[in-house]
Amino acid sequence: MTTVSSSLIPDLAAIVGTQYVIWKPEDLLVYEYDGSIDKATPQAVVLPRTAEEVAEVVRIANRHGVYIVARGAGTSLSGGAVPLRNSVVIALTRLTELIEVDAENRVAIVEPGMINLQLSQKVSHLGLFYAPDPASQKTCTIGGNVGENAGGPHCLALGVTTNHVLGLEVVLADGSLVWLGAAQRESTGYDLRGAFVGSEGTFGIITKIAVRLLPKPEAIHSMLAAFTTMDAASDTVAEIIAAGMVPSALEMMDRKTIDAVEPFYHPGYPAAAEAVLIVEVDGLIESVEEQTEAVLGICRKHGAMEIREADDEETRAKLWETRKGAIGAYGTIAPTYYLVDGVVPRTKLREVLQQVDQIAAELNVTVANVFHAGDGNIHPAILFNERNPSEVKQAILAGARILEACVAAGGALSGEHGIGIEKQAYMPLVFTEDDLESMSRLRTAFIGEQPDDAPIGVPSLSERFNPGKVFPGGAIHGEAYGISAESFRPTGTSDWQ
Ligand SMILES: Cc1cc2nc3c(=O)[nH]c(=O)nc-3n(C[C@H](O)[C@H](O)[C@H](O)COP(=O)(O)OP(=O)(O)OC[C@H]3O[C@@H](n4cnc5c(N)ncnc54)[C@H](O)[C@@H]3O)c2cc1C
Repeated sequence: MTTVSSSLIPDLAAIVGTQYVIWKPEDLLVYEYDGSIDKATPQAVVLPRTAEEVAEVVRIANRHGVYIVARGAGTSLSGGAVPLRNSVVIALTRLTELIEVDAENRVAIVEPGMINLQLSQKVSHLGLFYAPDPASQKTCTIGGNVGENAGGPHCLALGVTTNHVLGLEVVLADGSLVWLGAAQRESTGYDLRGAFVGSEGTFGIITKIAVRLLPKPEAIHSMLAAFTTMDAASDTVAEIIAAGMVPSALEMMDRKTIDAVEPFYHPGYPAAAEAVLIVEVDGLIESVEEQTEAVLGICRKHGAMEIREADDEETRAKLWETRKGAIGAYGTIAPTYYLVDGVVPRTKLREVLQQVDQIAAELNVTVANVFHAGDGNIHPAILFNERNPSEVKQAILAGARILEACVAAGGALSGEHGIGIEKQAYMPLVFTEDDLESMSRLRTAFIGEQPDDAPIGVPSLSERFNPGKVFPGGAIHGEAYGISAESFRPTGTSDWQ
């Protein structure tokens, strides 16, 4: 833990104003958490208003030898925004401006604290929208999306955040402000912008983002199909993709998720439905009509028991509300959820979902599924009571086993939620020591080398931003609930003592 200098708070307040520095223990509680199950208390939270203030805060933090954690809306599901090691949190929620819209070139420059959904709302009158749409888009920030390289239901056809970010203004470890990439297409030199996207706040603080905007499609058609088995729904997904179609969205919910959303949204899904698929197609009117027919045909072939359709904004929003609100609705079933985020080849979807069921049964945990089926990004939600230590332990073990199953099926550790605290111990499942060393060197390239004469007690420069994240050994997933490093060896064996 770093030593807190008594002048830190006044020094921060001198930059941003007293009302924008939070340091009282009762006020800091709010910043202990993100959307994951991990937590840690910061020593202070500072809310700058401009990029220059962010840079000055970084310089002050350097002078005081404290760690820094960038925070958007705090909805990260992997512990990304949890301030380990007594860090100072820089909350970007006052940097919310839409700085510039170039409608002709379809580019906008935004501040990182802008709420994702608000960007599409603000450019809607120009016939444009911002494609990445995490299910948390009413709350999460575009800066946080860049931090995690977020995806969303409509990223299947259009790509995740990195495909829509052209350039970034960032504050580096020495407090300098630099641009990576540009506000137009460019391919000169190394793609430092690309390296920064998804770096989970470990390279620096993003203060401006140049994003690509897309024209709204001529027609959009949404379909919802209910099935009596998950297998039938999974086979439908596989056949839609195999038919050469790339719907704009292809999402699935299982029975437990249906049970969670019914009392909230009253969608009235059939009582015998074990799975619900939402498929959306967009584009030119003729092509949408053609794709709609093809999708409906495949759904019927696999025994869809009910099909609903929507093509105006209001009915589409209604059809989507259960999917977009599903994670929050888990509160109707259990006090806490741990949302796992693995990726599997689409052809292995059915097999891995069966394994998830098996793992849940063996470990006696409740698992609900809501996920981006089209790109094989599964999100088993492990539902438990955090006040019961044995339930916490079982939940974390179930998460580990599910991630191992994804990797064993040829998939990946994360589709969109990042590594953070949650998955760092599993990194050796997919990366060798040399891989991890290369990643660490990339971080050093952004952050800088620790000077040989650095005073004792000053935190390592390489970990100046978001310490303890991404790399194995940085933190223990579930430590706040008494999980210890010794109790878990996730080297492909999931051994618990
Ligand atoms: C109900 C629910 C649904 C969700 N659905 C999805 C989904 O469909 N797809 C998806 O991808 N995710 C989803 N998420 C996860 C989460 O919303 C995303 O990871 C989102 O991108 C986080 O944004 P945020 O503003 O909350 O960032 P935070 O949680 O505050 O931060 C996330 C990470 O980014 C870093 N960061 C934040 N701002 C900056 C900055 N300015 N500069 C540098 N680093 C920064 C932080 O240090 C942290 O590592 C969901 C979460 C919830 C709770």
